[in-house]
Amino acid sequence: MLEIRDMVCAYGQISALKGISLSVKAGQLVALIGANGAGKSTTLRAISGLVPSRSGSLHFDGEDITGIGAQRVLTKGIAHCPEGRRVFPHMTVAENLDMGAYLRSDTSEVAVDRDRIYGEFPRLAERRKQAAGTLSGGEQQMLAIGRALMSRPRLVMFDEPSLGLAPNIVERTFAIIRAIRDAGTTVLLVEQNAFAALEMCDHAYLLESGRVVLSGAGAELIENEHVRRAYLGG
Ligand code: ATP
Repeated sequence: MLEIRDMVCAYGQISALKGISLSVKAGQLVALIGANGAGKSTTLRAISGLVPSRSGSLHFDGEDITGIGAQRVLTKGIAHCPEGRRVFPHMTVAENLDMGAYLRSDTSEVAVDRDRIYGEFPRLAERRKQAAGTLSGGEQQMLAIGRALMSRPRLVMFDEPSLGLAPNIVERTFAIIRAIRDAGTTVLLVEQNAFAALEMCDHAYLLESGRVVLSGAGAELIENEHVRRAYLGG
C-alpha cells in the first residue's frame, strides 16, 4: 500500500533520514521502533508532507505521491495523529473532530462518522461542548485518535500515542489502535515502548541514526539479540 524508497530528509544541516526504505502492506499494523532521534517522527512527517524530502520516493497504492504536499496527502487517505496529541485547546471536542474532516464535503457522512466516534468514546460524547484543553491527557489522546479517523483514512499514522499517559490509559490506547487495524484500516505506529509495539504489530522496522537497520515480523524482532539488548532491557 505504502512504499518509501531511499527517503532522505534534513533539518538545515542536521541529517534526519539517510535513505530510508520501507513498505506497509494493506491491512497491517506496522511499527517503527528506535531510540530518540533515530528518525521515526521525521519518517511520519515526510509521509504526511510536513517535511520535504531531499531525495527518494513515496508511493501510495501505486501512485507517486512524492512532494504533493500535506493537504493532498490527506485527501489520498493518509491521516497523521501527531506526537503530543496537538488537539486545539480552545476549540470544543466537537469542533476538534470536525477539523479532522475539514477536507470532506459529504456533510451527512461526516455526521455519521462523528456519531460513530462518540459511540466508541462515550467520554468524548459527554464532553462534546467542552474545550479540548480541559480534557485529561487520556481523553485528549482519544480525541486526537478520533480526529484522525474523521478524515476516513485508509492509512493512519500514530506518533508516540502512549507518551505521558497513565498505564491503564496506555493499555486502552493500544487496544484502540489494534481495533482500528482489525476493522481494516492500515496502521503505521511510532512507539517508544518497543516491546508493546513489537507485540501488537504485524511487521516492524528498527531505525538507528536515520537508517533502517533491521526489519521483520514483530515476534522475530522480539527474539533478536540486538533488539533485546538495546531496546528491551536484555
Ligand atoms: P523522538 O522519539 O525523540 O521524536 P525520533 O526517532 O522520532 O525521535 P526524529 O524526531 O525524527 O527522531 O529526529 C531525527 C533527527 O532530526 C534528530 O537528530 C533530531 O534532533 C532532528 N530533528 C528533529 N526535528 C527537528 C527540527 N524541527 N529541527 C531540527 N532538527 C530536528
